[in-house]
Amino acid sequence: MKVAVIGGGIGGLAFALGLHKRGLDCEVYEAVPEVKEIGVGITILPHAMTELAALGLQAKLESLGIENEESVFFNRFGQFIYKEPRGRYAGYKVPEVGIHRGRLHRVLYEAAIERLGADKIHTNHRCVSVEQNENEAIVHFIEGSTGKPLPSIKADIAVACDGVNSAVRKQFYPHEKLMFAGINFWRGITRHKPILTGKSYVRIGSIETGKIVLYPIIDNIDGNGNQLINWATEIRRADCGMNDWNKKGELADFADVYKDWKFPWLDVPNLLATADEIFEHPMVDKDPVSQWTFGRITLMGDAAHPMYPRGSNGSAQAIIDGRVLAQLLLESNGDWNAAMVKYDAIRRPATAKVVETNRSTPPDFINIKVEELTGGKPFDNIDDVVSQEELRKISEDYKKVAGFALAKDGAVG
Ligand SMILES: Cc1cc2nc3c(=O)[nH]c(=O)nc-3n(C[C@H](O)[C@H](O)[C@H](O)COP(=O)(O)OP(=O)(O)OC[C@H]3O[C@@H](n4cnc5c(N)ncnc54)[C@H](O)[C@@H]3O)c2cc1C
Repeated sequence: MKVAVIGGGIGGLAFALGLHKRGLDCEVYEAVPEVKEIGVGITILPHAMTELAALGLQAKLESLGIENEESVFFNRFGQFIYKEPRGRYAGYKVPEVGIHRGRLHRVLYEAAIERLGADKIHTNHRCVSVEQNENEAIVHFIEGSTGKPLPSIKADIAVACDGVNSAVRKQFYPHEKLMFAGINFWRGITRHKPILTGKSYVRIGSIETGKIVLYPIIDNIDGNGNQLINWATEIRRADCGMNDWNKKGELADFADVYKDWKFPWLDVPNLLATADEIFEHPMVDKDPVSQWTFGRITLMGDAAHPMYPRGSNGSAQAIIDGRVLAQLLLESNGDWNAAMVKYDAIRRPATAKVVETNRSTPPDFINIKVEELTGGKPFDNIDDVVSQEELRKISEDYKKVAGFALAKDGAVG
């Protein structure tokens, strides 16, 4: 069996490594001419790390990122709301790691080149369409850099891992639109002294009136003990247009919301103003669809289930998709169709729940709830507002939906 993997992002490369590990043949076709370390931070949650550890990448990733010790929530006045230990500090077998997205991608890319061979990873191949007949799937390409047509390729099955704006998904759902709920965000990286424990994942404020998420992704970036801090600011505005993710972010577009956020433990305006780089994105997802597998073609990762990045879960779900399909293909005795249908039946409902929960009650719902209960004002004592138990339940419920609740043996449940 030969598998064509369309898209060499996080999901596509992890899937290719999973196929290779199981002795299944595949080739990867990636649109960009050259894989560069782009992006800002990403969190590898325990379920994602469990998958990456199975691919033999845990030690490398740990060495390139920062292990999270705790997740901490504050209101927009900098008042402490809730915290919990994370990763190994919470009893998981594997760590939770904050890392530069480009580094994670680079680790996967280099592993794929080393294990599959450079001749199996084709950059500069932008898929424009896929067709199929009784015998094969046929994938058509143009050169990513020039737009010139390239020879088509044939495989037994084609798996579309081509991201949120998937060309393959568009073939099956031509009228579908990105869903934008009036929330824009700006992301950046700043060299800064360690915040709180120096291993803290911090959420401040609420999406309704302004929120910032921050965590370190590189230690001692300058030899003076500063860290590279990844941050993302988010705000819902009823009348705003969608941010353009091809544009550089402008501090002036969002700094006003945070101008008074000066806490004894962090000066937010300063953190934002001293950023190395700022990007802007719209917060978008798509409604879950009724089918991913169409004969020899199926969808995976963001192409299958684009979700709001509010629970650090998009890449985790993409990587799990890849392991599930690779294992089903291995067990299929050549009946790839049964494997692809089963993959759809298992992963589509599971990820639809994550998409829906990221809209309604992601982890930062903790902050929204406190803001609602306090009328957006400072409080005297958080225990008079809401119990820690109630807040813990929001966090634990999310872990169950996303598939990383802590099992008794330290595994993900
Ligand atoms: C701001 C933000 C923060 C996030 N934070 C986290 C986080 O903390 N933790 C987490 O787990 N997830 C996070 N995510 C989500 C995560 O980045 C994605 O869910 C994940 O990258 C999905 O992997 P993928 O392979 O499906 O898509 P991608 O990683 O986007 O890869 C798609 C690949 O396909 C290529 N491609 C596109 N079109 C074509 C084509 N026509 N032909 C060939 N190749 C093509 C692209 O160049 C790209 O390399 C975040 C997302 C955003 C936007």
